[in-house]
Amino acid sequence: MVGAGCCGGGGYAVAFVLLRATFFASIIMKYSLVAGLVFQGTVVLAELLPVHFKAPTAAHFIDIVRNDTFDFGCRPIAHPTDDGHFTLHALLTEEQIAHVSKEYEWMPEMSIHRQDLSKRAATAPIGTGNRFTTNAPVGLGTQASGATIASIMNVNEINSAIQALVKTYGVSTITLPNRTFNGATQVAAFVGAGTDKSAYHLYLSAGMHARERGGPDNLLYWISDLLAANKAGSGLTYGRKTYTNAQVKSILAAGIVFFPLVNPDGVAYDQSSGSLWRKNRNTRSGSSGSSIGVDLNRNFDFLWNFKKFFAAGETPASTSPSSEAFYGTAAFSEPETKNHVSIYDSFPKIRWFMDIHSAAGDILYSWGDDENQATTPTMNFLNAAYDGKRGPVGDTAYKEYAPSADITNIKNVAAKTVAAMKAVGGRSYSAIQAVGLYATSGASDDYAYSRHFADSGKNKIHGFTMEFGYSTNFYPTSSEFNQNILDTNAGFMDWALAAIAVGLE
Ligand SMILES: [Zn+2]
Repeated sequence: MVGAGCCGGGGYAVAFVLLRATFFASIIMKYSLVAGLVFQGTVVLAELLPVHFKAPTAAHFIDIVRNDTFDFGCRPIAHPTDDGHFTLHALLTEEQIAHVSKEYEWMPEMSIHRQDLSKRAATAPIGTGNRFTTNAPVGLGTQASGATIASIMNVNEINSAIQALVKTYGVSTITLPNRTFNGATQVAAFVGAGTDKSAYHLYLSAGMHARERGGPDNLLYWISDLLAANKAGSGLTYGRKTYTNAQVKSILAAGIVFFPLVNPDGVAYDQSSGSLWRKNRNTRSGSSGSSIGVDLNRNFDFLWNFKKFFAAGETPASTSPSSEAFYGTAAFSEPETKNHVSIYDSFPKIRWFMDIHSAAGDILYSWGDDENQATTPTMNFLNAAYDGKRGPVGDTAYKEYAPSADITNIKNVAAKTVAAMKAVGGRSYSAIQAVGLYATSGASDDYAYSRHFADSGKNKIHGFTMEFGYSTNFYPTSSEFNQNILDTNAGFMDWALAAIAVGLE
């Protein structure tokens, strides 16, 4: 038994079966139970199995992460283990597990481990009605300790929750300019700093990757808590972490813009199919199965054309429509990413951005395309002299420039965010640079931070990604869903408070 340390304290009991690569072929047969896996009463179409690789160094995984037919969740991240090794989580089919096991027979120090799904409690249900036609959501921070929320919001509930916040608390909304591929109108909302849009400094978004269940809920319940506490003159409590009414008021006064459902087509499809769907539902590059859809978090205009900008062999995204990381047909080819970015133009003084994803248990800060450096400003993503050199970690050919004051500030804000999440009392989170050990292109967080460097007339924005939940655990159990709300909401509180302390202008 190995690998149990990957999930921290307080989580569900996970049993891993160690499969030595050399014994793989014979053992595979015993575990071909996946076809019977049921989520929400629906057979999992993709038959993806949560696994993790374990090896003495993260470099052992380099060739694996370059395989863009594998699914590593939001992005591949190598996590250190208590026994001095590294793990890399993935969702693989039986065929992929068999293939990679054979491929790596020559590397016995790397092992692959399956999560024993028979030990899992049922996943949290999706709401079947509409709980917010008249009443605004009530978060966990304003309820008695031990209170729980019964189900994850369906798409109608996410939309009606926003409208209920408008009716109950005077939240304002903005209709975004582009309709989604399936014709959905997208709405963002803003609250706390009045009608002057240049008084809004915090921006949070969720629901970009469809299967990452609970992301929109985490954001909407937090906003609901802030507004309820503000109205009642009270504070907020998340597990063992408490906040004062003065802190609630200071966060609202910073001006919050929130966009809870970036990918409504994908979320509607995932909730109806239980297929662990990640991308949007655009069929222009592929009309069936996994070839449908674009990965919105590789479609932003930051080193989007990775074949040109990155070193040969690097796969920060994919040109293949059937990949989970398919980058689209152009930067900002998708209506959802255009809408996401239109918010920066509507609210020109946004300084702090948080994109809410799952599942890894990390807060990621800039940059995600390569390691940071603060000494050579001309070595940056705009400089064509470095095309073909970006991406590899551990080399000196290229590192991405960020002023040292920015690095100090964003590390400080990330550290305070994870400290608050840990203080709730459930589990620990890590603050790590977004590149980790493998580069990403076209992501929302890097795009946010890049805007000011690309055009000094635009406001500087510090971009973060929160990866709540346990690795590759996209469909939480009811207990995990509620713990995620507590953890993330405390994280948002301290993220906002730390951002305010660094500065909003
Ligand atoms: Zn994601």
